[in-house]
Amino acid sequence: MTKRVLLLAGTREARELAISLAGDESWHVIASLAGVTDAPAQLPVETRTGGFGGTDGLADYLRNDRIEAVIDATHPFAAQMTNNAVAACRRSSVPLLRVERAPWTPPQDANWIRVATLEAAAQTLPAGARAFLTVGANSLVPFSHRQDVWFLVRTMDAPSAAPLAQCEMIVGAPPADSREDARLMCKHRITHLVTKNAGGTAYAKLEAAADLSIPTIMVDRPPAPDVDCVSVVADAVKWLRHLAATS
Ligand code: NAP
Repeated sequence: MTKRVLLLAGTREARELAISLAGDESWHVIASLAGVTDAPAQLPVETRTGGFGGTDGLADYLRNDRIEAVIDATHPFAAQMTNNAVAACRRSSVPLLRVERAPWTPPQDANWIRVATLEAAAQTLPAGARAFLTVGANSLVPFSHRQDVWFLVRTMDAPSAAPLAQCEMIVGAPPADSREDARLMCKHRITHLVTKNAGGTAYAKLEAAADLSIPTIMVDRPPAPDVDCVSVVADAVKWLRHLAATS
């Protein structure tokens, strides 16, 4: 009989997993989006949108919707959702797998200043810096008190408000070619790159900073959840196949 799996989405990995599992005979996939993106990519599986209402709400959802497995493929920095999934699945005895892409490692000759939080990243910038900020549209507020820093902000979605005193905004996807980002950094006389260790394809900015000897203030990932974790989508599919065969 077909089982029901909840896929916590919002990433490229979640989309790839939804594509891999669309039409699967063993698993009916319900993908879940937070609803924070203006025009999310359509997924080829049943999709719901919006928060569950914390751990209690998610535990209720798992019970009411007869969910038999959860795959948490949210972003490496979506710590609240990940922690809620761990707690709700534990309480409900529902098997949970985390899919989390590998973190970036520094390019050759890079100067990485690693920090634990966005607040620490903001503190690390020296007065008068010209910072290229690529931390996401919802992560700008911790930098708002740095009125002595000029920011070039690049985000995928337009932020609801630009809370920075001195800034220029670019809305759009990052380039694949590091020379393009190097030109951008030179044009704006960037002195620091500030980013989160999201991993994935947006690596060109890190190479560009290294090539230009621009220090990168890198926000490390939140602590890893206490749950089984894979870094590639194919291993998540294997996990589901095994679960279907053994339960
Ligand atoms: P978060 O801080 O971990 O979560 C905040 C709340 O948003 C959660 O408690 C939950 O609300 C709701 N939520 C988050 N992901 C959800 C999902 N997939 N389905 C339903 N509700 C969800 O998350 P975030 O950092 O704001 O990220 C929100 C979404 O954007 C995630 O899906 C994530 O994968 C994606 N994203 C995040 C980043 C980033 O840098 N953080 C970057 C790219 C994409 P309730 O407590 O009410 O259930």
